[in-house]
Amino acid sequence: MVLTMTADNSASCFSTKVLYRWYKTHVPEELGDKNFLSSIENIPLTYLLDDKNWVSIDVWSTLLHNIQTTIHNTTGDTKTAYQLGYETTIEARSLDQLAYLLITPLNSIIATLSVHILRNINSNLLIQLRGRHKHGITLEQTPLRKEWYNNDVCAFNRGSMHAILDMRGYTDVCLEEHTCAAHKGDSCTFEATWTNRSIIKALKFLTK
Ligand SMILES: [Zn+2]
Repeated sequence: MVLTMTADNSASCFSTKVLYRWYKTHVPEELGDKNFLSSIENIPLTYLLDDKNWVSIDVWSTLLHNIQTTIHNTTGDTKTAYQLGYETTIEARSLDQLAYLLITPLNSIIATLSVHILRNINSNLLIQLRGRHKHGITLEQTPLRKEWYNNDVCAFNRGSMHAILDMRGYTDVCLEEHTCAAHKGDSCTFEATWTNRSIIKALKFLTK
């Protein structure tokens, strides 16, 4: 299947640019851009790297899958999507966002994050806080259209959430998924737990 630009432009090219940047720094240079663009050759790379453009979310999912496959074929690593979600979220942080993550109550962060994703990143993921205890939260992430959702996207989203909790200063963050929209569930439900909160750890992200 060859994917093209469609009227259903639900993923920002900010998010395709982020994937490309990660690809270029993690994949051997001699592989070039061919693997990254597999199945979507008729969308120019310049289009995918311009923040102002939008593509359909299956294009974004395909790019993620292409990276996952390339890394798996070169290193055998199967956890690429999680790592990618983690690292790109850390990389995209701004000083404003770090300050926001430090001082804002967690429930407000989750609500703002969900709106931000739906408006600016892609229009296919709703994030809801379902429970809260001293050292953890239960989160529900619901893809609005399941046909564009898969294991890789789920892992990417969890990696991204792990990064947000790390940047807030939580220590020993651990995410355990209970139901998954890529399998039988309608949404991904998972519990994130931590042992403590360290402002020193959070401040380290200022210089990382
Ligand atoms: Zn899932």
